[in-house]
Amino acid sequence: MNKKHNDELQESILIVDDLPENIRLLSSLLINQGYEVKSATDGAMALSIIKANCPDLILLDIMLPMMDGYQVCRVLKSQEETQHIPVIFLSGLDSEFDKVEAFKVGGVDYITKPFFIEEVVFRVKAQLAATKQQQKFRQVINEQVTERKIAEQELNRSRALLTGVLNSSLDGVAAFEAIRDRRGQIMDFRWLIANPVAAMTVGGTTESLKGKRLFVQESPGHLFDGLFDLFVQVVETCTVLEQEYYYESSSLTAWFHIVAVKLGDGFAMTFRDISDRKQIEITLKKANLRLTYQANIDSLTQIANRRRFDEYITQEWSRCAREQEHLSLILCDVDYFKAYNDTYGHQAGDNCLYEVAQGIERAVKRPADIAFRYGGEEFAVVLPHTEEKGAIKVAEEIHKQIQDLQILHHSSQVDKIVSLSLGVSSIIPDRRSSPHTLISAADRALYDAKLQGRNRIVYKSLKSH
Ligand code: GH3
Ligand code: MG
Ligand code: MG
Repeated sequence: MNKKHNDELQESILIVDDLPENIRLLSSLLINQGYEVKSATDGAMALSIIKANCPDLILLDIMLPMMDGYQVCRVLKSQEETQHIPVIFLSGLDSEFDKVEAFKVGGVDYITKPFFIEEVVFRVKAQLAATKQQQKFRQVINEQVTERKIAEQELNRSRALLTGVLNSSLDGVAAFEAIRDRRGQIMDFRWLIANPVAAMTVGGTTESLKGKRLFVQESPGHLFDGLFDLFVQVVETCTVLEQEYYYESSSLTAWFHIVAVKLGDGFAMTFRDISDRKQIEITLKKANLRLTYQANIDSLTQIANRRRFDEYITQEWSRCAREQEHLSLILCDVDYFKAYNDTYGHQAGDNCLYEVAQGIERAVKRPADIAFRYGGEEFAVVLPHTEEKGAIKVAEEIHKQIQDLQILHHSSQVDKIVSLSLGVSSIIPDRRSSPHTLISAADRALYDAKLQGRNRIVYKSLKSH
């Protein structure tokens, strides 16, 4: 293969020697090895050839007229364009001093004349290979430096972008790193990032918070004091924490909506002050509760009303049917109440109804047992999970409570004080029938109590079919 025409592969060598004989010998040797060879017989000529076209390697004789090899080499090594060219010195001199000097001025090798052909070829090849290796290495380093620069620019750009986003966010944004004890348990968290809103909320600055601990004194404010265990859970179990959090201190009272997600060995958090919305919510809730309460309470007697009775007995009917449990009902009616009104006036009648209602409520003790104003001077008591015996006991307690009130009723034909007639019934409800079955049975019992002379309790049993 004729390497002369293959510039890419053909390496060029410059031989500098004042003896044409040497040049001829070395030239033919190296040309035979496939190198492109140029030659110069003195230093100045060598420098001008190199300036025109950088060779890949220089074989430089030390003993040259005017400018010796060392000087030539010094010039080459002092210039950026030529300092990388490997220089192998050739010399008849063989003292240690010369060799040391050759390396001092920047030579890479030293061949003593007379030389062996193989030695020259071997050393030239070795130097070219080393240079090639160095070039490759330098190229790789350069590429890496360039890549790194690009990555750094990219990083700076995204940092700037992130800072922009964080600074413009109306939410508090922060990131924390876990601080673990020797056993690996999380004992605290350290601030990594706080955007201006986050910093302002806890009473610090984005810079002053960096590195500070979240749950010890050094951290300003104790905004998240109640959340330590939940934050630990986020980090240890990768769960997302989302919750509304109420904070109260001497300087700040606020509601926050908090979202925390695991980030590295820590977590990132956003939080928003939702105090305004929360205030509206609380006001609405209170208003709703009041409305619900008002809708279910009888304004005169302050006990549950007929509307609530219908709801409750239907609900408990289904529940007891499902559980195959007894449901009992007591209906109470004030005796000769029309006469009471006529005797003492309507206002006194109202007061009397209030006292009777409160008396009934006192007799009804279990949470599920509820007394209702059923209408006019009639009251109802619903007793879920209660059989006949229990229901009669409650009825007796009601009867006693009303007697204990000792409200004078001179126009009553059954006593001198206000009294009640009570009808009681009990059933294990059946889904196919309605609460009406029980209501009408209790009503019949009440009717019987009236018939039998009032101021008494009558129980009417009832089979579910
Ligand atoms: P009985 O012993 O048979 O039950 O006789 P009674 O007079 O109690 O029964 P009646 O149904 O004849 O009369 C009920 C009275 O209750 C008539 C009504 O004026 C009175 N009443 C109903 N609701 C109220 C109320 O809210 N306030 C007052 N003051 N009276 C009421
Ligand atoms: Mg009545
Ligand atoms: Mg009555």
